[in-house]
Amino acid sequence: MIEVSGLTKLYGDFPAVRELSFRVEPGEVLGLVGPNGAGKTTTIRAIAGILAPSTGRVTVGGHDVGRDPVGAKSLLAFIPDEPHLFEYLTVEEHLLFTARLYGVTDVRGRLDALLSELELLPRRHALPGELSRGMKQKLAIACGLIHSPSALLLDEPLTGLDPVGIRRMKETIRGRAATGAAVILSSHLLHLVEEICTRVLVMREGRAVAIGSIAEIKRERPELAALGLEDLFISLVGEGAG
Ligand code: ATP
Repeated sequence: MIEVSGLTKLYGDFPAVRELSFRVEPGEVLGLVGPNGAGKTTTIRAIAGILAPSTGRVTVGGHDVGRDPVGAKSLLAFIPDEPHLFEYLTVEEHLLFTARLYGVTDVRGRLDALLSELELLPRRHALPGELSRGMKQKLAIACGLIHSPSALLLDEPLTGLDPVGIRRMKETIRGRAATGAAVILSSHLLHLVEEICTRVLVMREGRAVAIGSIAEIKRERPELAALGLEDLFISLVGEGAG
């Protein structure tokens, strides 16, 4: 569903992402992890078609994100860590507007289910200025889900959510994967990654240093097999690693 081939992104002459290649199939949840500046957000934004790769190629559902951006973007949702909302649209109007952009015809059938899933039913007529940070994040997520994307890209999806919201969000992500979406999320929360990701891509200085399930990553490095996730991560990306 999502295929990244030889992706390199330069900012000026600084390589933020270098020669990155991986695939995410329907039903998979790939966690992008790595220290600050490793290139996670750059990778996600390149897949979403917001940043043009310097070299390499990204396809979503067979559509080249560079050559056929509309075809690719109609299949995907990108949910950034900082929600961008319209000041003068209510919660419900955001969803109706986003649905129209994506040509969703049965929006009325989806609206209440989505508002309920993201605990926004009581705030359906509120403007963004009347929402808490976590509620704004939930609204951005609801907008991303209204067209039932086949590829879901989430940058730090749990930022600002309360414990109940975090649990619900985990269920939402798992649920979308279970119904066939390919999911990529970036997170510094390793326990979240361990809990909901089927595979992990560990990045450091723009490169992939490991990819696979946590069991696979350990199997390839028997010397790290006994480590917990945090120590494994630090061994892979810390000073002196790689
Ligand atoms: P974090 O965990 O802190 O969110 P990240 O892994 O998402 O980090 P990116 O935001 O992808 O990292 O940044 C990768 C590198 O590219 C960093 O060194 C960053 O300073 C650089 N970078 C990001 N955006 C730009 C830009 N617009 N112009 C120049 N350099 C940039």
